[in-house]
Amino acid sequence: MKIFVLEQTKGLGTYQSIYTMKVQLTKQFDFEMAHALMNYDGHCKNIHGHSYKLYITIEGEPNPDTNSSKCGMVMDFGDLKRIVHENIIDTYDHALVLNEKAVFENTLNTKLIRTSFQPTCENMLIYFYELLKDKLPEGVKLCKLRMYETATSYAELVI
Ligand SMILES: [Zn+2]
Repeated sequence: MKIFVLEQTKGLGTYQSIYTMKVQLTKQFDFEMAHALMNYDGHCKNIHGHSYKLYITIEGEPNPDTNSSKCGMVMDFGDLKRIVHENIIDTYDHALVLNEKAVFENTLNTKLIRTSFQPTCENMLIYFYELLKDKLPEGVKLCKLRMYETATSYAELVI
């Protein structure tokens, strides 16, 4: 493992990249989604909604290029926000997600997404990983996804 060493130069703190260290960044995303679990033996067989909280964690080395506008950053949080919105949030926010085998007539003309799997928190998280894994910049690794379905229940995928 390499490390950064902080040096003081005339009152200004500067990082000298003698060594480099991997740093993880996490950004939180909030969205509303409805689903129903086909053949489930509890309340969640009914269509219902959640206020999901999705935490995306990436890992990389801070950019050591002092001439770069992204110096000191693993990734611009704004870029991470855009990528996650384009690939997940814009599609799934305020959508109804149902297993493709479930019989459902969409007479409300609602935003309906069919999945080839049971849309549990666990399966959605694995699917979101698949949607995101090839969308990050070179040198940035998607290393953890955590999604809260309720305030006290979450699924976590550590890669
Ligand atoms: Zn649910």
